[in-house]
Amino acid sequence: MIKDPVCGMYINEEESAGSIIYQGKKYFFCAPGCKLSFVISPQKYIQQSSSDISATAGTNDLSNTEKENDHENN
Ligand SMILES: [Zn+2]
Repeated sequence: MIKDPVCGMYINEEESAGSIIYQGKKYFFCAPGCKLSFVISPQKYIQQSSSDISATAGTNDLSNTEKENDHENN
């Protein structure tokens, strides 16, 4: 069983309606529509730790600024 990244459904690889290799990893889909959605905007369906890290780094800068602002207000 493998997870369809678009709808989150678990499917058998043999029964998948389609598969795609994206960034070196193979993804399987339960339906052609799911595959199409993934092809259009793969980033939307991949929760990569790498993007989380960059997003967190940016957030840290913002939160630091906010804390400084709060301190000034107090
Ligand atoms: Zn699906």
